Amino acid sequence: MSQDIREVVIIGSGPAGLTAAIYNARARLNPLVVAGVEYGGQLMGTTDVENFPGFPEGIMGPQLMMNMLNQAKNHGAEILYKYVTKVDFSGDVKKLTVDGQEVQARSVILAVGSSPRLLDIPGEKEYWGKGVSSCATCDGAFYRDKIVAVIGGGDSAMEEANFLTKFASKVYLIHRRDEFRASKAMQEKVFANEKIEVLWNTKVDEVKGDDKLVNSLEITDTVKGESKNLEVNGMFLAIGHIPNSDFLDDQVSRDDRGFVDVVSGHTNTNIPGVFVAGDVHDHHYQQAITAAGMGCMAALDVEKYLQSLD
Ligand code: NAP
Repeated sequence: MSQDIREVVIIGSGPAGLTAAIYNARARLNPLVVAGVEYGGQLMGTTDVENFPGFPEGIMGPQLMMNMLNQAKNHGAEILYKYVTKVDFSGDVKKLTVDGQEVQARSVILAVGSSPRLLDIPGEKEYWGKGVSSCATCDGAFYRDKIVAVIGGGDSAMEEANFLTKFASKVYLIHRRDEFRASKAMQEKVFANEKIEVLWNTKVDEVKGDDKLVNSLEITDTVKGESKNLEVNGMFLAIGHIPNSDFLDDQVSRDDRGFVDVVSGHTNTNIPGVFVAGDVHDHHYQQAITAAGMGCMAALDVEKYLQSLD
C-alpha cells in the first residue's frame, strides 16, 4: 500500500464499488478498492441472477462479481482485502484507518452495502449457525431431507424458499402479512412449488432447540391470536437489510436508520469529496443493476470533483 495521497479510495466491492472502480480506473485515477476480507457483497451469497442485463441465460451471482472484480483489476484498480474501521473526513485530505494503517485520499466513495436484518427474538443468536442462517446458498445443503422455514415476504424470501426445496423435504414460508411484496414472477415460482407451504399472518416468537441444533419455532397466527410449536430443523431469515455504516460514526450525514444521505442530488454526501453508491444509501431499489448504476455515477462525480480541485 502506497503512503501517497490517493486520488480516490472506494470502500466496498459489491456492484456499486466495483463499477466505480472500473470507471475510475479507466479514468487513470488509480483507484484503491478496500474490498473487505471477502469481496463481492451480497451477490456472493446468491445463485442465478436473471435480471442483470447482458446475460440472456442468467448468470450465477459469484460469477458476476468475479467478472466485475477482474474487469476492475484489468483496468488497473488496486484491491485491498481489508476493512476500513474508522474515517476522518474533517480535512480536505480524507483519512481512513485500514487494518490499523492510515490511508489518505482526496476523494472517497462509500459503497459498503448492507447486512441481513435479524428478528431479535430469543434463540436467534444462540442458534446462529446451528440452524439459523441468512444465506440459503451457503447453508442450504445441510438441510437435505429436512424441514426448514424461511421468514419474509420479499424477493429474497421467495428466492431462498425456492432454492431450499432443492434440498429440504418441506419449506415453510412464514410471512407476517397476508400478501407478499415480492415480484409476481418470484411469487409464481413459490406458489407452483409443491414443497413450499406459506404461513400467512404469522410471526416467529422464539427459536427452540436441544442446545446443539434448532428443532422448532414458536409461532403465532396474528389474526387468530393462536400460538403453536412448528417443528423445523432450520430457519432462514430474509427480512431485509441494515446499512453497514456504523464505522462512519458522525463523519457523514446518515438518516435515522443509518443510510448515508445524499445531498444536492447525484451521489454527493454532505462532505465535499465524499460520495456514496449502492445499498448503503439506497433502501428503495436495492438492485445489483441500480447499485452498479450509482457506482458509475459516483465515479463520474469523483472525476468532476477532482478536476474542480486542480
Ligand atoms: P424486502 O423487499 O425489504 O422484504 C423484506 C420482507 O421481510 C418483507 O416482506 C417484510 O415484510 C419482511 N420483514 C421485514 N422486517 C420483518 C420483521 N421484523 N419480521 C418479519 N418480517 C419482516 O427485502 P428483500 O426481499 O431482501 O429484497 C430487498 C431488495 O432486493 C428488493 O428491492 C428486492 O426486489 C431485491 N431483490 C431482488 C432479487 C431479484 O430480483 N433476483 C432477489 C432478492 C432481492 P412486509 O412485506 O410486511 O414489510
